[in-house]
Amino acid sequence: MEYKKNDIVIVKIEDMGQNGEGIGKIDGYILFVKDTVIGDLAEVKIIKAKKNYGYGRLMSLIEPSADRVAAVCPYARSCGGCQIQELSYEKQLEFKQNKVLNHLQRIGGFTEIPMEPIVGMENPFGYRNKAQFPIGKNREGKIITGFYAGRTHSIIENRRCYLGVEINEQILNIVMDHAERYRIEPYDEETGKGLLRHVLIRYGFKTKEIMVCLVVNGRKIPYSDKLAGKLAQIPGMTSITINVNTRRDNVILGDEILTLWGQDYITDYIGNVKFQISPLSFYQVNPAQTEKLYGLALEYAGLTGNETVWDLYCGIGTISLFLAGKAKEVYGVEIVPAAIEDAKRNAAENGIYNAHFYVGKAEEVLPAYYDKYEKEHNGERAHADVIVVDPPRKGCDETLLKTMVDMQPDRIVYVSCDSATLARDLKYLCENGYELRRVRAVDQFSQTVHVETVCLLSRKSQ
Ligand code: SAH
Repeated sequence: MEYKKNDIVIVKIEDMGQNGEGIGKIDGYILFVKDTVIGDLAEVKIIKAKKNYGYGRLMSLIEPSADRVAAVCPYARSCGGCQIQELSYEKQLEFKQNKVLNHLQRIGGFTEIPMEPIVGMENPFGYRNKAQFPIGKNREGKIITGFYAGRTHSIIENRRCYLGVEINEQILNIVMDHAERYRIEPYDEETGKGLLRHVLIRYGFKTKEIMVCLVVNGRKIPYSDKLAGKLAQIPGMTSITINVNTRRDNVILGDEILTLWGQDYITDYIGNVKFQISPLSFYQVNPAQTEKLYGLALEYAGLTGNETVWDLYCGIGTISLFLAGKAKEVYGVEIVPAAIEDAKRNAAENGIYNAHFYVGKAEEVLPAYYDKYEKEHNGERAHADVIVVDPPRKGCDETLLKTMVDMQPDRIVYVSCDSATLARDLKYLCENGYELRRVRAVDQFSQTVHVETVCLLSRKSQ
């Protein structure tokens, strides 16, 4: 049977898609329904109908799934931040583990997968150390802050996000009161006019240091000394800055930082490694789970102190510095120059002298190093004991994978934020002399559909 727009149907949700939407079938017709979870019996209105599948809107729950929980946040459905807050945490973990497993089977062609149980969070809320609140106006023209609705830039007014820390709300109250009192105009993306664009807040979970950065379409805001004075009274306040962003695109931060009060950075730790974090630095948003993820990477790397290790896509050197204590030498490669500056400074700050960093594309730096080594050593090949990769979602370039194989490391540790490209890359490595030994998913972003995975591959003995 075919269905059309505005039809109302009753459907049992039997699966969940990549983006956390429920999936059900009626007489073979597939329906994707946002805000439903596996096990729901739902009344659904079809909002878009294709020949064999369609998209539906949840009208009412006829029988809620046993795995459904009440959302903690009243904006869970409208806000773009969380996708699966209404699914019990236990089932969220199951969903993520299955997602990785499915990709490894379907895309990677693996049959026997050495999967270890997913690492969940102790508390699946309040884990984010960074929040960026956009500033705008509501229909009545009042200045507001909150979060973007999914896929749009309309702001859902909300100062209390349950993924972040509680102090965010108090900070926003002070900033918004100030903006109202002095009639500070929010920035308008359409016209490019207005002053206040975003409030960026960072919190060091271990140090309890707080950073507030006001992103401004200009260099000043009215009575900023008064605002800074109020914010400075919050215990732990360490850094209050303005980020100058007069550009018309939708990139959140500009390049220039002006200090209003205190330092222009905060510090925090991952394991025993100390990091300086400025408003512009990349830093993992869930340090507790990052520590677990990199702890596994370290375990998988199997270091004894004599190894040469490459850490490709190293960012600010988090993994490199985490591994340096157990390796002979670590070489980090990263495309963003500012991140490499941070990595070098972080190495020095921590008294780590066996970590070396290169700016460039991993798929260019490593092959170039390999070729140069061969030329300078009479045809001898460059060797690494362990290669760690932590690429962005698009995964590794094949040129890079090829060079990795040429370098014949005993072990490859693959850290991934996208299990589809992970599966593709593992397939290549396993067709070229490597064996998949261990796989483990780690939940860094509860309530969302994202999942991190760490894998160990070892070289097959010839
Ligand atoms: N391991 C890092 C983060 C990895 S995120 C940490 O814990 O901090 C992926 C990183 O890859 C980003 O820093 C991104 O800037 C970098 N990157 C993206 N494409 C790259 C490429 N082709 N070569 C090297 N680095 C790249």
